[in-house]
Amino acid sequence: MKVPMVDMLAGYPPIKDEIETAVKNVFNKANFILGEEVARFEKDFAAHVGAKYAVGVANGTDALRLAIIASGIKPGDEVITSPFTFIATSETISQCGAIPVFADIDPVTYNLDPKSVEKKITKKTRGIIPVHLYGMPCDMDAFTALAKKHKLKIIEDTAQAFTGKYKLRGDWKYLGSIGDCGTFSFFPAKNLGAFGDGGAVATSDDRIYEELKALRNHGSKVRYMHEMEGYNSRLDTVQAAVLSVRLKHVEKWTEMRNAVAAKYAEALKGVCVTPVVPSNARHSFNYYTIRFDTKAKRDNAQKYLTEQGIANQIYYPIALHLQKAYAHLGGRKGDLPVCDQVQDTVFSLPMYPELTDSQIKTVTDAVKASLK
Ligand SMILES: *Cc1c(COP(=O)(O)O)cnc(C)c1O
Repeated sequence: MKVPMVDMLAGYPPIKDEIETAVKNVFNKANFILGEEVARFEKDFAAHVGAKYAVGVANGTDALRLAIIASGIKPGDEVITSPFTFIATSETISQCGAIPVFADIDPVTYNLDPKSVEKKITKKTRGIIPVHLYGMPCDMDAFTALAKKHKLKIIEDTAQAFTGKYKLRGDWKYLGSIGDCGTFSFFPAKNLGAFGDGGAVATSDDRIYEELKALRNHGSKVRYMHEMEGYNSRLDTVQAAVLSVRLKHVEKWTEMRNAVAAKYAEALKGVCVTPVVPSNARHSFNYYTIRFDTKAKRDNAQKYLTEQGIANQIYYPIALHLQKAYAHLGGRKGDLPVCDQVQDTVFSLPMYPELTDSQIKTVTDAVKASLK
């Protein structure tokens, strides 16, 4: 049985009519740029995340870029982030003229390790970008304490983790509402996917909010009045209409993802390492990532699943500090030993809310068979 990595259409039939009506409305009004659907979605999304504001932007990469600028990070500043993430996290730091500094990751959560981050703090450090990788919450108690101590900004890269939660000093919070800014992607395969590109920044800071609104629209809040230079990075009105419909279902989908994850974990007990979700966290399970004790076993499992028609992916095969794009920063294998080990031994299985029991069995049987 072929099993895809994600199936965007599996959840479509029940909401098809509602989405088509919402999209038709936009077509009929032809308010394609910053139409009222964008403002409505921003309001609903901010309320869902538990932030005062959300600003819709063109994609998750621009969400990072604009959040970095609006947080006051300037050329020459250092921003510490994870080497084990998609390059959008670090390329936006560089593109703002700042310097990405990679710290090591935690061997259990694969997220940025606060102890390693603290060691990388210098006089030039201005910010930290924790990435809630695969949807697993970062240790935000530690990061907020570090930021307070060293006066740093926190931008949470929440691209993979919308609907994930973290119990911050005893209080449950949605990921993306804890730092100065939280950035989100609505790339189709993310937890809340649009039918194209989209992104948002959540913040509860009035000044950051005002700056984000200007930055996404050429530095302008009143047409042809420019307070600064900005970007053309608006959330498309058609996408906002789609997102508003999908937003109403996203909690249910995350529950379904968690149910799939529980079945995977049960079937793979004792076979490989499955995600360990701390009791102070709710995982959004954008991806389901397992780990083997050797690279050979991982490579073999990957090859076997692929032969069987079971989609799978290594997120991420080469950590950022070892990529050619960052050769100028001088990163070497061995600098971040936990990251080195994790990149060689993880891979991700198909994950989406509607994955069936028989598909789950096909996948987990194949993982077991690959080890024989
Ligand atoms: C997807 C993703 C992004 C970028 O989002 P786009 O909408 O594709 O630009 C940034 N960071 C992480 C961790 C991601 O997974």
